[in-house]
Amino acid sequence: MSRLQLDKIHISFGAAHIVNGVSLQLEQGEIGCLLGPSGCGKTTLLRAIAGFQSLQVGSISIDNNTVSESNKTVPPEQRGVGMVFQDFALFPHLNVADNISFGMRKASSTERRKRVDELLDRIGLPGYHKRFPHELSGGQQQRIALARALAPKPGLLLLDEPFSSLDAELRERLAVEVRELLKNEGITALLVTHDQQEAFAMADKAGVMYQGELLQWDTPYQLYHQPRHQLVADFIGHGVLLQGTVNTQGSLASPLGMLEHPSLMQVAGGTPVSFLVRPDDIVPDPESRLRGKIKARGFRGAHNLYTVQLSSGIELLTLSPSHEVLDVGADIGLRAEFDHLVVFAADHCELPG
Ligand code: ATP
Repeated sequence: MSRLQLDKIHISFGAAHIVNGVSLQLEQGEIGCLLGPSGCGKTTLLRAIAGFQSLQVGSISIDNNTVSESNKTVPPEQRGVGMVFQDFALFPHLNVADNISFGMRKASSTERRKRVDELLDRIGLPGYHKRFPHELSGGQQQRIALARALAPKPGLLLLDEPFSSLDAELRERLAVEVRELLKNEGITALLVTHDQQEAFAMADKAGVMYQGELLQWDTPYQLYHQPRHQLVADFIGHGVLLQGTVNTQGSLASPLGMLEHPSLMQVAGGTPVSFLVRPDDIVPDPESRLRGKIKARGFRGAHNLYTVQLSSGIELLTLSPSHEVLDVGADIGLRAEFDHLVVFAADHCELPG
């Protein structure tokens, strides 16, 4: 049984179509992430799921009960949905324990105490009951905000850019911690972010929105390796799109030479395509005839990321173990080695394969 189901939702503000035909599904206990550039409609969609925004077309179901349609809106407080917003303000005059138990007013004081203890343990802040928000770091405050949303055991949790005010390192750590916490609690959650790393660290399913459309809803692995639209590949990042033409033999004439891949067998000969080249598709190879000059080197821990310019002017990215340092300006041989070859037609959508 799906916990959350969105069916072809449309939302407009006057003449502006902000959400265009979005469908997605989350099963019980799954974590979903919506990615996309600023203004693409992510928050509007979350607000509609929470019941703060009506729809013109489509429907939203939670636990197989329709909560939103064009002529029906179940009020937010009857949806069993918890929310954590970007500006997660804790109540400054309440201590940590009272902040966490704020949404549990109907529970007995013993139940409330037990839940607060349990959640403080889970978020790694046992004994913080009596602290006030101003006595906590940003990361601690964010964990408390999350505990507050989890306290009433919502069936569905919506998180809108919950880590955006934190620095990158803390953000990454919290994303992993929060995933573990949600999994332990068995909570179904939908998170909005524009940080791809955060989405990959947290999500079972993720999608990229663009101008109100959900271009793809898939596992993070599929989004990265099998983007169904150029814009998804662009947004997920670290890729270069090159042009080529498919041969009748199922190979691709390209600026990297002739590329062969089973996926090309399905595409008609003579079709002009663009194809995605990621750093993991390009391997340094001193013997290769494809050569270029190293323009930049970036340290990535285990690997260095090199930007290499070919004589045609095309720039490619490649990774190489960081203990073997190559100099900027050096000549380097490269080999294209595609695990998945992702090709897009002129309409920017993925070709079959
Ligand atoms: P960000 O990442 O910047 O938060 P977002 O993807 O969450 O962006 P939304 O907040 O959903 O984007 O906004 C989508 C578009 O809808 C924006 O152009 C915004 O100005 C517009 N919009 C949102 N709410 C309203 C409203 N109540 N009335 C009119 N326009 C609105």
